[in-house]
Parts: sequence; structure tokens; C-alpha cells
Amino acid sequence: MKAEIVTVGDEVITGHVIDTNAAFIARQLIRIGIEVRYRSSVGDNLELMEEVFRLALKRAQVVIVTGGLGPTDDDITKKAIVKVFKRNLIFHEEILDDIRARYKLRGMEMPPINQNQALLPQGATVFPNKYGSAVGICIAEQGRFFIALPGVPFEMEQIMVDDVVPYLKKQRVGQAIKVVSLKTTGIVETKLAELITPKLKLDNNVKLAYLPSPRGIELRIIATAENEDDAETNVRSVIRHIESVAGKYIFGRDDDTLEAVVGQLLLDNDKTLAVAESCTGGQLGMVLTSVPGASRYFLGGIIAYANEVKTEQLSVEPSILEEHGAVSEQCAVALAEGCRKKFNTSYALAITGIAGPDGGSDEKPIGTTYIGLSSVHKTYARHFNFGTRRDTNRTRAVYAALEMLRREILDLS
Ligand code: ATP
Ligand code: MG
Repeated sequence: MKAEIVTVGDEVITGHVIDTNAAFIARQLIRIGIEVRYRSSVGDNLELMEEVFRLALKRAQVVIVTGGLGPTDDDITKKAIVKVFKRNLIFHEEILDDIRARYKLRGMEMPPINQNQALLPQGATVFPNKYGSAVGICIAEQGRFFIALPGVPFEMEQIMVDDVVPYLKKQRVGQAIKVVSLKTTGIVETKLAELITPKLKLDNNVKLAYLPSPRGIELRIIATAENEDDAETNVRSVIRHIESVAGKYIFGRDDDTLEAVVGQLLLDNDKTLAVAESCTGGQLGMVLTSVPGASRYFLGGIIAYANEVKTEQLSVEPSILEEHGAVSEQCAVALAEGCRKKFNTSYALAITGIAGPDGGSDEKPIGTTYIGLSSVHKTYARHFNFGTRRDTNRTRAVYAALEMLRREILDLS
């Protein structure tokens, strides 16, 4: 079963609004085994909309449209649908009652213009909208499903999840599909592929995708099959293989984040953490505290940007800075140790590097970064080079620091 997603609106095609709706819908469809073949966008123009809808119906069995279902004159999606399907608009009293009640709840009179929204193409299935006045509709014709949803993302998402996905599942469109993501970090894409590919034989119905970001590489495994059990079995065998050759780089699955995984490890082991950040300017602290409940293991940090802060707040010996510079193994070690002692934590992480675009030298090119880790037993630093882009550099440094701690706690080499 193939699908096309059509997003409607001048603001979408001009780039004033980023088309997050299409991405959301695509992710929902893949979960139930419906493959998205095309995504298209069209402005608020009746003729063009008709053209796009007709084309979509020609090349996909499931067409999902968002946007242009509102009551105002620029919302013309329904007009286009009626023309394409040659159906009349039928008035639905119960829908108007519903909209009226919604206004009443907010102490307002319903504007007459909302009458439009109770007009729906004849024979359409209605998907109620919990958060707004534009209902979703589906026209099923000759084994094809044409679904129109409102453009407001949270309204569309609610209808998609609560109604459209169960509806499409019941129509038995789509094969069984299983999608699992393995989250890896601390290894580059090509190295990972070198480990994984040699002994991996993939059938046609199993796909493995490498999705790199500065936070790590996500390995997405997608298996389609006649039934759920087969899809599950196929995914499992790929996971088993990847775990056997690259297990130590895998920190989690699906929605897991490294910061949450490290947080849980600290919690499980009854440990605490503080950070000293130079080039990342607080980003490590920000990432750590984005996890709810981080206060149970994260105490705080110092943004030791200037040398004086390094020496005065974190007891880095001035001689270290003079002899080796702020971006050095020795300084990272001193920062980490000073930080752990200052905060009296089980661990401290310290990041010092040359983020760029200036400040590089032959000896220490842009991207040169040292990350220190101090525990009660030992303190050490690792050297990295993250490349020449300032923002990715800093993000990579943050996740490399978290990964060092994960490996330390788990005693992985
Ligand atoms: P309304 O009843 O609010 O008029 P509607 O169905 O007519 O709903 P639109 O007018 O097309 O929807 O869009 C409403 C808002 O939703 C837009 O201002 C835009 O911010 C957002 N939106 C529309 N389409 C998309 C999209 N594809 N991705 C993300 N946001 C979108
Ligand atoms: Mg609108």
C-alpha cells in the first residue's frame, strides 16, 4: 500500500512555515506498514490543488492532505475535493452544534462564517477534532482513501493518532512492519559500516539505514513482512548481528538519548556529576538538565571560559596554562579534578577545545578538544578532533564527554 502526503498552504510552499506535518504523518504511516511514495505541497489555489489531488490519487492508494480546512476564504481544500470527487457538500447539524458548544465554552458567540465547517462532502467518514473546529474527513472510493486533516499541527496530530491510524489499520492496508533504531555514538559512520557490513546479509524486505548527527549515529532497521512475527524475527536477527560486532557503541534504542541513559546510570550507581566547560559554554550542563529528574545526580557546573576562571574557580595551576595552554591534556585533567573536588561529586567532566572559526594553529588545529574525566579513583583526559565547524564541534564535544562517562561507569574500553 503506497501513500502520498499533500500539504496545502501558501505559507508552506514559500517556506514561512516549515512542513512538519508531512514528516509527522510519514512517521505514523511507516509504523503501520504504509510506504510513503511521494510528498507534495501546493499553495492556496483551487486549480493547482485539484491537479495535485488528481495526480496523488493516480499514484497512491492512500492520500493524506493537511491544511486549508478552516472557515476563512483562503481555506479552499474542501472546494477542491468536491470538484475532484464530483460530490455535493452536505450540511451536518451535529457538527455545527459541536462548534457552537466549543465557542460557548469560551464565552463567545459562534461567528456565522463557521457554518462552512459543518459542510462536508457527501459520504465522507468524519474524524472529530478534539482541539479545533475543522474535522478530518475520509473519502473512500475504489479501494483508495483520500483523507483531509486540518493544518494546525497539534490538531492534525491528535486526529492522525486517535482516528486515522486505527482507521487505516482496520482497512487492512499495509503489511506488517517493524522499525527499531539502535543509537550509537563514539564511532564514525564509515567505521561502523566496516564493522557491520562484512557479515550482514539483508533480504529485500529488510533495510538498514545509517542516520548520522553530531550526537551519534542512529541505525534504523526496517523490516516488512506478511505478518508481525516475521517482521519481528527479521529485525531481531539484524539487531543481534550489530550487537555482536559493535555492541559497545550502542547506548540505547528508539527514543533513548545519551544524556538520559548516562543519567540513569548515575542514578542506578548512586553517583553524582559536576561539569567544567570551556569551549562548550554551558551546553553540557544544558543537555544534562534537559532530562527530567536530573537534579538527583547532577549538581552543577562552572563555565570556565577565561583563564582566570580556570585558575581561580577550579584550581588549575597557572604553570599548566603557561606551559601547555588552556587547550591541553594537562589542563583538561586539572579542570576535571578541580571541578570534582569543588563540587564534591563522584565524577566530573571537563571540556576544553578550540571551537573555531579562529584560534587554530598547526599544532592545535580548529576542532582540537580535550575532555577530562575525574572519578574518586583516577583522572584522565582524551584528545579529539571534531572538525572545523563551531556549532557541530561543540555538540560533538558534549556527546563525546557523556560517552566517556558512560564507558567509565560501564567499564567499557
Ligand atoms: P484553521 O482552522 O486553523 O484555519 P486549517 O486547516 O485551515 O486550520 P491552515 O490554515 O492551512 O489550516 O493552517 C493553520 C496553521 O497551521 C498555519 O498557520 C500553520 O502555522 C500551521 N500549518 C499549516 N500547515 C502546516 C504544515 N504542513 N506543517 C506545519 N505547520 C502547518
Ligand atoms: Mg486556515
